[in-house]
Amino acid sequence: CGVIGVYAPGKKDIARGVYFGLHSLQHRGQESAGIAVNRQGTIQYHKDMGLVQEVFNDEIIERMQGDIAIGHVRYSTAGESHAGNAMPLVIYLRDKAVALAHNGNLVNARILKQKMQNKGVIFQTEIDSEVIAALIARYGRDVPIEEAIEKALKKIQGAYALVITTGDKLIGVRDPNGLRPLCIGKNEDGYIFSSESCVFPLLGAKLVRDVEPGELVVIKNGEITSYPYARKEKLASCAFEYVYFARPDSRIDGIGVYTARSKCGKILAREWPVPADMVISVPDSGTVAAIGYAEESGIPYGEGLIKNRYIGRTFIQPDQRMRELSVKLKLNVLEENVAGKRLIMVDDSIVRGTTSGKIVKMLKDAGAREVHIRVASPPVTDPCFFGIDTPDKEKLAAAKYTIEEICKMTGADSLGYLSVEGMLRAIGLGKDRICTACFTGEYPMELPEQNRKERKD
Ligand code: SF4
Ligand code: MG
Repeated sequence: CGVIGVYAPGKKDIARGVYFGLHSLQHRGQESAGIAVNRQGTIQYHKDMGLVQEVFNDEIIERMQGDIAIGHVRYSTAGESHAGNAMPLVIYLRDKAVALAHNGNLVNARILKQKMQNKGVIFQTEIDSEVIAALIARYGRDVPIEEAIEKALKKIQGAYALVITTGDKLIGVRDPNGLRPLCIGKNEDGYIFSSESCVFPLLGAKLVRDVEPGELVVIKNGEITSYPYARKEKLASCAFEYVYFARPDSRIDGIGVYTARSKCGKILAREWPVPADMVISVPDSGTVAAIGYAEESGIPYGEGLIKNRYIGRTFIQPDQRMRELSVKLKLNVLEENVAGKRLIMVDDSIVRGTTSGKIVKMLKDAGAREVHIRVASPPVTDPCFFGIDTPDKEKLAAAKYTIEEICKMTGADSLGYLSVEGMLRAIGLGKDRICTACFTGEYPMELPEQNRKERKD
């Protein structure tokens, strides 16, 4: 998911800023979108299934005037994909409205929910984010909101980047491991929280810094106050953000995503060289690494696959049949450029392994002489419990099969994955400041609900 919060009291059209920002975060989720606007403590919101541009129109945006606004785009990692699970969530503490948007996944949501249900709390959605809202509601009746949020945060475990607005405040929170990204921007109107810094230029803002792991940041009266609410755990910035999820023009925890991805490609070329005529990418997610591979190997980069830009990310269609069809909907071979050639095909990652085989076949049908798959991240062997939608272990190609078997299944002439060490070097955060659990099985925290993955596919 993607979250954004804009603090700009006295400015017109705050919802429009959030709306634009959500467009720049659209790659983080295409299932639903929502905006909540706070006008002197009164909260108005609109959310629905669909892309940002489908959910909002001019009339809705114009209607939503206020001083502070938050927004959310969603893909489901917990809870079904339907409108009732869209965000922001709006709750009431006595007569005080609070709006909340969450990116991430709690690892103890079910336990907490059960406990609260036993005490008579009624839940309206299936999303774990409502557990956070319910906890804030429980603690927030008599104490200031910051305190209520802190109390709630002490109960929850897992990954979260939160933006919250209530009264005259905009609040941003990042979990104690910083698993999900959240950064702070500033423009002449005020402050912005965003999952990714790529939204800032559009809003005339500059990146100030990342929210720290275990930090709660309150913006009020035009001032920023920082509350470190948790003992500073080790940063465990998500490796997959750099490899695939984030936009290349974002910076996360001080690292430019483009640079990290390009270095992944360069190191991959050193680890897995092969004679070939052309390096092609599986667009768009493989392109930066493919260019890096080409630069390092000296083999020219060329276009071999043309992408239909109007079809959403295959990965995010939460159903296997749609995912299979969408490979062809999305990609077409540029026959005149690949026929007779030995190709190196660079992709960012192999997850289920369904995509690569189809593309290899399409390339060979079009006359490619050889197709060598090069993957700019290590084999995905373990599921993510922190908000990236990798499937259960039994659906992960690299958990079930050896590299040789995967190569054979895809019909490629060879297959090479970037090593974990290579990826760490490419990203450059340092081994103890990054989460690589889906590649190594080394999770940065205990998982009280390991078996709780309930997927639709
Ligand atoms: Fe990111 Fe993988 Fe860690 Fe999940 S398990 S937070 S996808 S690195
Ligand atoms: Mg891809």
